[in-house]
Amino acid sequence: MERTNSQLSCFQYLIAGPCAVESEEQVVETARRLWVQQTHFPIPLSFFRAGVWKPRSEADAFCGVGEKAFPWLQHISHDFGFQVCIEVANARHIELCAKYGIKAIWIGARTSVNPFIVQEIADAIHHSDFTVLVKNPIIPDVRLWLGNLERIEKAGIKKLLAVHRGFSDTTENIFRNAPMWDIPIALHLMRPDIPIICDPSHISGQRQYVKQLAQIAIDYGAMGLMIETHCNPCAALCDAAQQFTPEELSELLRSLTFKHSVSNTDDLLRQQRTLIHNIDHQLSQLLAKRFSIVKEIAHIKQEHDIPLLQPNQWNSVVQNYHQHTLQDDCYAKFLENFLDLLHHFSLEMQQNKKEL
Ligand code: PEP
Ligand code: MN
Repeated sequence: MERTNSQLSCFQYLIAGPCAVESEEQVVETARRLWVQQTHFPIPLSFFRAGVWKPRSEADAFCGVGEKAFPWLQHISHDFGFQVCIEVANARHIELCAKYGIKAIWIGARTSVNPFIVQEIADAIHHSDFTVLVKNPIIPDVRLWLGNLERIEKAGIKKLLAVHRGFSDTTENIFRNAPMWDIPIALHLMRPDIPIICDPSHISGQRQYVKQLAQIAIDYGAMGLMIETHCNPCAALCDAAQQFTPEELSELLRSLTFKHSVSNTDDLLRQQRTLIHNIDHQLSQLLAKRFSIVKEIAHIKQEHDIPLLQPNQWNSVVQNYHQHTLQDDCYAKFLENFLDLLHHFSLEMQQNKKEL
C-alpha cells in the first residue's frame, strides 16, 4: 500500500460486510474474501457488519435470519479475527448480543427516530463495554441525532460513533437518501469529540454513486466509512443494487484520496487563518454598525410615514455588491442568499420585530 497509517490518521474506521446475514455460506464467504483483500485496505477492517434483523418497509420482505445467525458470526470472529457489528432495535436484541458475545452494535436510521426505543436500548446496555454506532434518523433533524448519541453516552458508553447515512427526502432523486451534508457538519460543530463515519451505501442506494459520496465524506473529514459488501451482490436478499464484492471494495478504497491529520496541517494554515480571523472580526463589527444604521432609518421612516419597502434603494444596494463579485457561480449564489438574508432582517428590524 502506498499510504502509511500515520498519514491517514483522520481515517480510523473501516466497516464492511453484507447488508444482511442470509446464510452461513454467504456470510463466511464474504468474510473470507474481505480477510484476503484486507492487506490492500488503507487500514484493517474495524468491524465486520451484518444485519441479523432487517427493518424492511414491505411486510413480506426478507427480514433477516434472526438468532441462528449468531453462531455463524462467532465463527467469523474466531476464524478471521474480525469484530462483528450488528443492528439492534430493542432490549431483546441486546440480550442476544450479550449471550453470543457481540461487542459492537449500531442503532439504525428507523430506530433513531424514536427516543423511547433509543432509551430502551441505552438502559439495556447501561455501563457495558459495547461500541455503539448511532445512525442519523431518517428525518433531517440534527438535534434528534445528537439526543440519541447523548442517551447512549449517558448510559456510560465510552466507545460511541455517529454514522451519516442520509435522509429521506422526496425532492432528491439521484440518491436513495439525500446526503444533506450540512447536518453531519452541524453535528460535528456541536460535538467535535464524537467521530462521524459515513455510510455511502445507504445514501446512494446504487453502487455507481458510492465512490463519489465516499470521497466527499473523506474530503469533509469523515473519520471512517461503512460500505456494504457481499460475496455475490446481485443475489443479495436486500440492498442488492448498492453492495460491492470484497474485491470491488478493495479497488474502491485504493481509488480514494485520503486526508492528512489536522494537527499536521495546522502550521501550513496558520497565516491564512489569522487573516480570516481578522476579516471575520471586521465583518462582525461592520454588520453590527450596519444594523444600528438600519434602526436609525426605521425611526426616520416611521416619523415621516415612509413605506418600509423601497425597491429602488434595495436594488442599488444589490448593484453595489455585484460590482465586487467574483466570477464564480458558487460565490454568486452565496451573495444572493446573503443579500436576501440581509434584506429580510433589515425589514424585520424596521418592523421592530428583531432587536440586535
Ligand atoms: C443497514 O445498515 O443495513 C440499514 C438498515 O441501515 P439504515 O438504518 O441506515 O437504513
Ligand atoms: Mn442495507
